[in-house]
Amino acid sequence: MKVVIDREACVGCGLCVEACPQVFDLDSENKAVSKMDTVPKDIEKACRDAASECPVDAIKCE
Ligand code: SF4
Repeated sequence: MKVVIDREACVGCGLCVEACPQVFDLDSENKAVSKMDTVPKDIEKACRDAASECPVDAIKCE
């Protein structure tokens, strides 16, 4: 699974980092970034949970 983050939409709330710190981090501009290109199977659920918690729907799991 791949994760795509809409940095324009991201408001830097940090919820995705709390939900799935293995995948998400905040950069120096307080925007979410993905730490990996391909999300391993064992953390796909946490990654999807992070996407569903995003208040501005900026995370897509593909
Ligand atoms: S949950 Fe959404 S708005 Fe909040 S930091 Fe993550 S991508 Fe940005």
